[in-house]
Order: sequence, then structure tokens, then C-alpha cells
Amino acid sequence: MKKYIPLIITALIPLFLLIPVQINVEPSMILAERFWEGAGWIEIFILDIYAVILAYVILFKHKIKKVRTVYWSIFSLVFFTQFILGLLVSEKFLMSGDIHLPVPALIVAAPIYRGGGFFMPILLLSTILIVGPAWCSHLCYIGAWDNIISKRRKPKQVNRRFTLIFRYAIIIFVVALTLTLKLLKVSNLTAFFFALTFGVVGVAVMFLFSFRLGYMFHCTTYCPVGGIVALVSKLYPARIKIAKSTCTLCNVCSTDCKYDALSVTDIKSGKAGWNCTLCGDCLDSCHSSSLYLSFFGSKKNGWNYYIAIIIGLHAVFLALARL
Ligand code: SF4
Ligand code: SF4
Ligand code: SF4
Repeated sequence: MKKYIPLIITALIPLFLLIPVQINVEPSMILAERFWEGAGWIEIFILDIYAVILAYVILFKHKIKKVRTVYWSIFSLVFFTQFILGLLVSEKFLMSGDIHLPVPALIVAAPIYRGGGFFMPILLLSTILIVGPAWCSHLCYIGAWDNIISKRRKPKQVNRRFTLIFRYAIIIFVVALTLTLKLLKVSNLTAFFFALTFGVVGVAVMFLFSFRLGYMFHCTTYCPVGGIVALVSKLYPARIKIAKSTCTLCNVCSTDCKYDALSVTDIKSGKAGWNCTLCGDCLDSCHSSSLYLSFFGSKKNGWNYYIAIIIGLHAVFLALARL
């Protein structure tokens, strides 16, 4: 019975978060309810069943690596399909009429530029509070692209010091640029083109670097939100660790890590590196079961409870995340 507790947690999260939305929020944020009265309940029910099946496959069939790419991509597909339908077909597919560009860097830049609109930064920080860095491995609509593009090749060794410096330099650059645009009182159209350019360059970075290097260069180096998530989530009590007593230093797990978080030095040190997003891909790759998720200091069942929460949130994001 105990082994099914994570599945119960997964089932409860969408119910706990979506039922109050269905009952209290007007106009409805649940998409089906916007088209047919009462259909929001059916959508919540279907998403809940979907989440439980997904958690079951991950926890009982040990398929996180393959399954994560699929459900993360599904989320991105649903998100952008709603965005396109919202622009071309009906405003009902949008969260509100107030559209902004789907560029994660705007989570940082937009509130600075506008001097308000803190919904997304608060959502991001709340998510980090609940699931640590999993925003960047399960929940972001753009990260799913970098994940797919980097999958084609085995990860190459890179100069980590360079990527780390670049990662935090780009946050300073984005903040400084946004403040400059604000001080210069540029038009919204000009600011829009800067944001669009940043987003387009980001996609180019995926094809030019993530594809060639075989790891998520965009997310671990270019996107400023990734740097912030990595930094803030160090307060979250979950870490990927390696049991030194059983690890044979075979290095197989490092080829499964798309975040450059399992170098030889990391493995020897007994824990994943700075960039680890707790994606879990490496967990199934170790022949000696030396890798585990330490959650609140406990290695027993840590991963089961952690992924149960993430999959529940994934279902909630499927229902609510749209522009
Ligand atoms: S680094 Fe940026 S683009 Fe990548 S998953 Fe995180 S927020 Fe999304
Ligand atoms: S796959 Fe397992 S044994 Fe091999 S290096 Fe990684 S943790 Fe150690
Ligand atoms: S160390 Fe493991 S859990 Fe962390 S990012 Fe790499 S593959 Fe994912």
C-alpha cells in the first residue's frame, strides 16, 4: 500500500489546485469550460487520470528518461498550439487579451521594464519553492525544445568555468539592457523587437550549440531564467547524489545528463554539479544503482515523492499555462 502513496499525491495535486479554479474563477481559466459549461470538470478528471498513469509509468516501469521528453514536449506543444489558436481562431485559447512574447527571459525583463506585472516571477519562485529546479526540466515551454534538439548527440565536454561565467554575465546584461531601455523611455514596439531578437537568437543558439554539443547549451548558458533557477533552487532540499562506495566511475551516467551536471569531477565528488535540474534522466542509467535523489536529507523514496509532486504540477500546467 505504501508504494502507492506517491500516486495518491499525484492524483490529489490537480484536484487540490484545479477544483478551486473551476469553482471560483470567472471567466473560467479551464479551457473546456470556456466552450461548454460543465466541461471543465471533465477536463480536470481526464488530466488527473493522465497524471496518475504518467506517474505510474515513471515510478513502476522506471522510464523517466524516455517519458520525460514525451510529456515535456506534449506540454510545449499544447502551450504553443493554444497560443497560435488564440491568435488565429479565438481569444478563448488565450489566458487574457494581454499577449506577450513566449520568451522566458521576459520573466526577468518584463517586470523591470513595466515596473509591475509580477505574476510570472511570483509563479516561478513559488514553483521553485515546491519543486526546486524542475521548472527547467519539466515545466518550461521553451526548455522542451532545447531538450529535444540536444538529444541527437552525446554530450561533449565543455569548459564549465566559461559557461558558468557566461550564464551569470547574461543575467547582468539582460537586466542592464532592460534598465537602459526603460531609462531611455523607448517605445513598446522597440522593446518588443529587442525581446523578439533575444528569443530568436535563443532558438539559433539551440541549433548552433545545443545540437552540436549534445547538451542543453541554451538552457545552461544563454537563458537568464535558467541561471536564476539554478541559483535560487540551491535553497531547495533535494540533490542528486552518488554513493561513492558502489560507484565504479564508469561515467555512463554522464552521457545521460543534458545539463552538464555529471562531469568526472562531479561524479568523484559524490553529487551532481551546479546545473542539475533534478530531471532524473541519470537515475535509471546506473548499473550499480549508485545514483539517488536525496530529498529532505533522506534517500529512501525521495525520488518517488519528488516526481509525484512534479507530475501533479505538470497536469496543472497543462490546464492553466497559456499566454
Ligand atoms: S533555462 Fe530558460 S528556456 Fe531553459 S527551461 Fe529554464 S526557463 Fe526554460
Ligand atoms: S553510472 Fe553509476 S557507477 Fe557509473 S559513474 Fe555513474 S554513478 Fe558511478
Ligand atoms: S545530474 Fe541527473 S538529474 Fe541532474 S540534470 Fe543531470 S541527468 Fe538530470
